[in-house]
Amino acid sequence: MQNYISQQNFNALLDSLISQGKRVVAPRTNAGTVLYEPLANAADMVIDQLPRRSGKEAFFPLCEDIMTYQKEGQKIELQDIDPTRFLETVLVGVRPCDAAAIPVLDAVFSWDYKDEFFLERRKKTTIIGLACTQADDACFCTAVGLTPADPKGADLFLTPLEGGGYACETQSEKGEALVANNKELFAEPNGYKPLPLAEPQTGKFDLKKVKAWLDEHFEDPAWDSIATRCVGCGACAFVCPACHCFDIVDEGTEKQGKRRKNWDACGFWKFTHHASGHNPRDQQPKRYRNRIMHKFKYYDDKFGQTLCTGCGRCIRLCPVGIDIADILQDIDKIEVKVKVEENS
Ligand code: SF4
Ligand code: SF4
Repeated sequence: MQNYISQQNFNALLDSLISQGKRVVAPRTNAGTVLYEPLANAADMVIDQLPRRSGKEAFFPLCEDIMTYQKEGQKIELQDIDPTRFLETVLVGVRPCDAAAIPVLDAVFSWDYKDEFFLERRKKTTIIGLACTQADDACFCTAVGLTPADPKGADLFLTPLEGGGYACETQSEKGEALVANNKELFAEPNGYKPLPLAEPQTGKFDLKKVKAWLDEHFEDPAWDSIATRCVGCGACAFVCPACHCFDIVDEGTEKQGKRRKNWDACGFWKFTHHASGHNPRDQQPKRYRNRIMHKFKYYDDKFGQTLCTGCGRCIRLCPVGIDIADILQDIDKIEVKVKVEENS
């Protein structure tokens, strides 16, 4: 169902949700950086910029407690954190590259083990997506099968209109409920014209050709040159909407402390460091190979989709200028070269 909502009414909607005690998470400026964070009021929202990190933090926080412990003599007391305490949340202004990563995370967090922390937050979250009208040189959503107006992952999808306001398309029961419960703020979408969409870079590589090369080249000298500059800082994984690795650590003393779940990254040397001292990914090219393999081969083999939505954040943030889209383009060219050589 399509509707129209003015910017003023959209802000009124968010303020009303905040006043009802809901957690409204939207892009806002924090110390000069735009991030998805809880709003105190709708006027703080910065809707025209892609936040530095993705919206996945609404379901998968950087760090969270999952248990506490206390020891008194021989008595040990464990206290679970109750996931049902998580607040109803509305995640607002989610770009197609971020929204499309949410079903990707759903698949992995509900696969063999059901991660109740992720799933409880996810169940309680309504996602308001937003079409993109601006792209930069790093955006490549169209090269991985998305578009700047792709509603995948959103419950309600907004398209900015000329003259202000948004066309709103409901995508799920959650989106329909949000509109139905606030119908006085919405109107018929008659005669409105969408703003022109963003034009991300496209056609740089063919995902099928990239996958075909990865299927056959776990061992290949190309990996040394592909990853030679990577310093293993993990920034690419931390800003990525689709990366989802975490570590579980106990923090505290012998007498009391907490068990925590913290983001982790396959670029870190310690990520695969065994207690024995052996490390199967003992050099950085092996770690970067895992990043590419996981995103464009392993995840695809397991779940039938790519673990990258082309948001470009890792390209913007990499301190040594590694550009994943250029790497995929190079792999695509190697695959073409291999085919030409085979056929000649
Ligand atoms: S951000 Fe760049 S240097 Fe850091 S781990 Fe990723 S690819 Fe390597
Ligand atoms: S790999 Fe890079 S471009 Fe792809 S979704 Fe992650 S941060 Fe965005």
